[in-house]
Amino acid sequence: RLLRAILQYDRVMIYQFAPDGSGTVIAEAKAPDLEPYLGLHYPDSDIPRQAKYLYTLNPLRLIPEVNYEPVPILSQESESKEPLDLSFSTLRSVSPIHIEYLKNMGVGASMSISLLKQGVLWGLIACHHKTPKGVSYTLRSVCEFLGQVMSLELISKEEKEGLDDKVQLRTIQAQFVEAISTADNLVDALLDNRDNLLGVVGATGAALCISGHLTLVGKTPSESEVYELLDWLQDRFQDNLFVTDSLTSQYPQGIDFREVGSGLLALSISKIQKDAVLWFRPEILQQVNWAGNPDKPKRVEVDGSLTIFPRKSFSLWQETVRLKSLPWQSWEVGGAMELRSAIVGIVLKRADELAALNLELERTNIELDAFAYIASHDLKEPLRGIHNYSTFLLEDYALVLDQEGVDKLETLVNLTKRMEDLINSLLHFSRLGRQELHLYPIDFNRLVDNVKGILQMSLPDLDMEIRVPRTLPTVQGDRVLMEEVLANLISNGLKYNDNPQKWVEVGFQEPRIVDGANPIPVWTFYVRDNGIGIRDKHLDNIFRIFKRLHAPGKYGGGTGAGLTIVKKIIERHGGRIWVESIYGKGSTFYFTLPA
Ligand code: ADP
Repeated sequence: RLLRAILQYDRVMIYQFAPDGSGTVIAEAKAPDLEPYLGLHYPDSDIPRQAKYLYTLNPLRLIPEVNYEPVPILSQESESKEPLDLSFSTLRSVSPIHIEYLKNMGVGASMSISLLKQGVLWGLIACHHKTPKGVSYTLRSVCEFLGQVMSLELISKEEKEGLDDKVQLRTIQAQFVEAISTADNLVDALLDNRDNLLGVVGATGAALCISGHLTLVGKTPSESEVYELLDWLQDRFQDNLFVTDSLTSQYPQGIDFREVGSGLLALSISKIQKDAVLWFRPEILQQVNWAGNPDKPKRVEVDGSLTIFPRKSFSLWQETVRLKSLPWQSWEVGGAMELRSAIVGIVLKRADELAALNLELERTNIELDAFAYIASHDLKEPLRGIHNYSTFLLEDYALVLDQEGVDKLETLVNLTKRMEDLINSLLHFSRLGRQELHLYPIDFNRLVDNVKGILQMSLPDLDMEIRVPRTLPTVQGDRVLMEEVLANLISNGLKYNDNPQKWVEVGFQEPRIVDGANPIPVWTFYVRDNGIGIRDKHLDNIFRIFKRLHAPGKYGGGTGAGLTIVKKIIERHGGRIWVESIYGKGSTFYFTLPA
């Protein structure tokens, strides 16, 4: 209004450019008899790129008379053939298309003042007059000054705009980040704060994909649609971010869920894990008022070039914009990025804690091994002394002692032997944890044959049968340790057996997934016997170190470390061991190995 009063133009408009180059009249002061242009949109092609560029160079552009006759400038023969650069000339002609455009609009004279925001063309103050009109140098200076002041004001005005939104968003973000940073489980924490998860960017739906698990919150596409979208997104993240307010323009399948997901803001948390957070916004039908049909005034030529025609009709042309959501504001996208740093920070912190814990565990394991080694080494020496001295006593003084004294000495010798066995088992067990596995394919048939050979040598008189009902597979493992497993299980089956015809059967089941939490296919082997069986209440106990169910002399048992060692070996191979038994009838030990 002020400018119109100063300059006396029929119409003064403020015209703002959108990121796609189209423009909208956002303010207008005009003579009462003119039809209003306020709110009308003008397509990108109405002001070509070169013209927009000139607007950033020159603060003012004046056309005092649209019916001017242009005069060409000719170079002298001697000068270069390059046309003279007239970018900064006030008297420079404008494009004839623009002149025709103005004439079609019924404009006789025009002036525009550029509005720049940080050097980028933000908009124009466009002045139109029906008849020819010049503007004095003084007034032009005033206009230039006003344009500059307004340009400066734009920065702070636009920053202040949405300040309330921004403050509110900040509060949500801060609460949210605090809540998730103190949590143990990231997904639980994100879900415990559902409202904030959506509020943090102003979305109506969200999808969390963490460690391969998908969780949907609010209004979202279906699980399968989100999985498909996630796949598509993988190589489209830029700086871990993907933002669009019209997903279908890049992802046509998105049409199926446009009602909930026309707008997408996606954050990649980890590329390797494919962890991501997706936010959705619904389709919002928008009415756009164009000044005439925006598609008319250009034509693509056969050679691909574009010919533009000035529009003849500027009458209101309405378009309903579909498949678009409300745009994601810069501060909302910024909020999402900050959330990402928080999440990544938490994930990294957890990884650090885990690494520290592992290091600590490793250290204590090494200490324990060292302790077991030193203890057994240091214990062995006095033990040997006791053993030797009691043996000497037996040899040299047996005649002096009475029978009771001799018996006691013999018990002493036996006890020292037993203690040595226990110490040796402990030493063996403590080493297993650190021992490196040498993994190779092992033919289990050969393994069973080896064990059979050893047992026949050590127990030549035992009436026993080792059955293998069908050919065993070849499975990856440490051969020496696996032989120890089989030797232990098979010999136990024969030892803890008072059947006159003792047998042990070794078999297997094909790879399958046995454990829901650990979905890796495994081979399941079994060692079955017709022995004494184990009472239900002892089924777990027998795997504890030094746990024996019988007196040392009975069934020729060992130290009670055998099954503990077997369990450790299986677990080091990534498998599991358990036992089923019918007391008095026999037992079956099962163990798994990753296929
Ligand atoms: P040991 O080395 O003394 O044999 P293990 O750790 O191998 O000790 O076994 C622990 C206990 O589990 C044994 O004392 C025995 O009572 C019981 N046990 C192990 N295998 C069997 C089996 N096949 N049948 C019945 N009892 C068994």
